[in-house]
Amino acid sequence: MNLWVLYKKILVFVKPYRYLVLGTLLLTLIGSLMAQVNAYVLRYTVDEVSRLLDEHKSLQEGATLLLAISAILLSKELIYALIQFGQKFYGTKLRILISQDISQQVVDKILTYKMAFYTSSENESGKLQTRIDMGISSLTRLVQNFFIDILPLFANSIMALVLMFSANFYVGMVSLCIIPIYFYISQLQAKKLSGFRRNMRSYRETKNSGIIGLIESITVIKSFVREPLEAQKHKEIQDEMTSNQMSTRKLSFVFESIKGFLEQIGVVVIIILTTYFVLNGSMSIGAIMFHIMLFNNVSAPIRQLHRIYDEVNDAMIYSESFFEVLDAEHQTESSGTYVPEKIKGTITMQHVDFRYPDGTKALHDVSLVVPHGKITALVGLSGAGKSTIINLLDKFYQPASGTITLDGIDLQEFDTEFLRKNTGLVLQKNHIFKGTIAENILYGNPQATMEDVAEAAKKAYIHEQIMELPKGYDAQASLLSGGQQQRIAIARLFLKNPPIIFLDEPTASLDAIATEQIKRSLDAIKKDRTVIIISHSISQIIDAENVIVLERGRVVEQGTHEELYHNKSVYFDIFNAMASSLNIDKIAKTVADETAEH
Ligand code: ADP
Repeated sequence: MNLWVLYKKILVFVKPYRYLVLGTLLLTLIGSLMAQVNAYVLRYTVDEVSRLLDEHKSLQEGATLLLAISAILLSKELIYALIQFGQKFYGTKLRILISQDISQQVVDKILTYKMAFYTSSENESGKLQTRIDMGISSLTRLVQNFFIDILPLFANSIMALVLMFSANFYVGMVSLCIIPIYFYISQLQAKKLSGFRRNMRSYRETKNSGIIGLIESITVIKSFVREPLEAQKHKEIQDEMTSNQMSTRKLSFVFESIKGFLEQIGVVVIIILTTYFVLNGSMSIGAIMFHIMLFNNVSAPIRQLHRIYDEVNDAMIYSESFFEVLDAEHQTESSGTYVPEKIKGTITMQHVDFRYPDGTKALHDVSLVVPHGKITALVGLSGAGKSTIINLLDKFYQPASGTITLDGIDLQEFDTEFLRKNTGLVLQKNHIFKGTIAENILYGNPQATMEDVAEAAKKAYIHEQIMELPKGYDAQASLLSGGQQQRIAIARLFLKNPPIIFLDEPTASLDAIATEQIKRSLDAIKKDRTVIIISHSISQIIDAENVIVLERGRVVEQGTHEELYHNKSVYFDIFNAMASSLNIDKIAKTVADETAEH
């Protein structure tokens, strides 16, 4: 990405605020004009004082002069302060507004992206957030540099330079010669220090995540007595960080000194030159101060050049990956247009092959039928491809080949939003949002009334427990137990009321009691719908009217529980393994003994 491309890209974000930019720039221009006033006032003062001294005038005349000068300087400072306030305030406002727009746009955009975008390794967990955060902050800084900082710097410098030239050509030339040297050194400084802030940021991140990791794993650390090892790890990061910091500081002090020294050379040359002109009578004595001050106005802004240079470089690096996220049009989810009046719920898959974006082949030539209004169980060892089938049915991914139909129509032709509104998904651990129980249930249908919410909760067999809480439906949902949260998720689904439901190991993360408690809510939600359930629980599999057995991405058996059991093949083995893991013999014996005793 080059500077011009980047400039055009951020111009899009700046455009809505063009009047704000213009206003800020105008203030900047006035500010840089006013910054030169001191030089003039000082020249006038020195010249006037020398004249008064030469003419042996009374102290009273001097006092009038002082009064006039004080009045001019103070009122100038007052106006200058106001202008600076305006410039800073509107500049910051611009930056904040643009940063807000950029964040909003990126969030709006990524919400439309495919699941593959979120599961790809380059966007995994923290990485996407870092890319977005870094992009936003460096772009915002760039806006600040391009539209707020650079111009005043240059305006100040150029203005002072013009004044110097108009005062005397040679004096102007001295300043002009200093500028390229300054440029060169600033650029060298930025180059040498480039990456410093980046390194520091990554050190800081590593250090922070190290500390977070430490807190999270404290039990393991303590039980293995690995405190010294952890302390050592931290020390290594800290040492590296310190040495990086020290060498960078050293380098930047060297550059600052060189620049300071150069500036002083400029001042000395100007003093010598101006004194020469004063002595040969072509200038008044006030010119010495005048030129020094103007020279300072030329050089001071340029002193900051290396910072801008560095930040622009930074922005070019970070914005590249940021715009990759923002402009990833190919990641936008596709949608068909078909919207039927009613969904019945017969699902078929024919010769479906599927590979995840990272290359994992998850389904091979899968053909199956899920009858409407019935419960179909997907059975298979972990990694067999059961969740992948649900991912495809939700259109989170597209099959590589083969067709998936719903009520005889290709899934790709369906309007994706409509399809998802008509399917419900309950996962092993359902997401409970930060907020109240009512808000969490309402997620299923934001237009529902509180009566609807309570009705849904009743159907999910959680209403009474909610009513026992001091705050009832206004209690924080995150405080509920796993089993209760799962029932909130089911209540949410009752409110959504879709004709098709996918249950992906809905009880896997729950203990036996909680599983027993949510059984009734699960049975309730399954009624009169097309249900696909993935489960390792025998009781839920036996309940299914249709069983599909998967092995390493292939369908190996399909039929009813009884049929498959009699086949004595894959299902038979899996089922027996589940049964023996339950230790049914012993359970039966315990129950039998207990009954015999009574
Ligand atoms: P199951 O639900 O039967 O346990 P999955 O459908 O989750 O199995 O996984 C099938 C295969 O696809 C496994 O090999 C798994 O590692 C792989 N897989 C699942 N999700 C992804 C993903 N997002 N990216 C890449 N590979 C995946």
